[in-house]
Amino acid sequence: MRHLLVAGNWKMNLNLAGAESLIRELLAGLRELPHNRADVVVCPPFVYLFPVAQLLRGTSIQLGAQNLYFEAQGAFTGEVSGPMIAETGAKYVIVGHSERRHTIGHREDDRMVNLKLRAAQQAGLTPILCVGETLAERQSGQTLDVLTFQLTAALVNVKLDRPDDLVIAYEPVWAIGTGHNATPQQAQEAHVHLRRELNRLAGPIAESVRILYGGSIKPENAGELMGQPDVDGGLVGGASLKAASFLGIVRAALAAKGRC
Ligand code: PEP
Repeated sequence: MRHLLVAGNWKMNLNLAGAESLIRELLAGLRELPHNRADVVVCPPFVYLFPVAQLLRGTSIQLGAQNLYFEAQGAFTGEVSGPMIAETGAKYVIVGHSERRHTIGHREDDRMVNLKLRAAQQAGLTPILCVGETLAERQSGQTLDVLTFQLTAALVNVKLDRPDDLVIAYEPVWAIGTGHNATPQQAQEAHVHLRRELNRLAGPIAESVRILYGGSIKPENAGELMGQPDVDGGLVGGASLKAASFLGIVRAALAAKGRC
């Protein structure tokens, strides 16, 4: 059975005091829930990784970063490398988020996503690889082809030996931060397709790799989405910024998987 994973992507939000109080509230709330039934991860901005790591030491919440650069060190002003992230105590790093592919600066292409994924693995981090179609691609019937293309390109020269070598997040671009989530059926169809393609690319390990859904998850829709057999958890943006909604999602996910 794949272990449930719920990750919060804080994006460029909160200040240090807000980050610390959110962590304290999450830790208090998680104490009320059954232990070790889900991996709960927070992904703060780079500058909060160290202070958040201190608060998380010895607790059940794990740490992730939102991005990395593909080189380990050198003259790359403003970038942060995998080994630097690993040094903070982070275990995960988000790679190829749609905001980095479509919105920010020079926009990451599939080759850059592949380089970053490999750098994450080399640093001992688990990459959370984001893939997903735009609204135009969905409306023109290209969703599954886009997912195949993005997954195949991201995994060039990548070896998967252990389930933790990769997490995939299916994040339809039209669902991120819009309030319009994919239906549970749309999510399940995409996840089954991604798992089949992962099997083609990497073999039977595909059955053990977790595939998260991301895009406007809230406590009210999390149960139905997480109840799908191939949805192994969620990557949560906006709703991860408030303890009540993030904990509500964790609770709904545990209930949907029959783990509480
Ligand atoms: C995300 O940032 O990965 C995300 C899914 O955002 P939101 O939950 O706000 O749609």
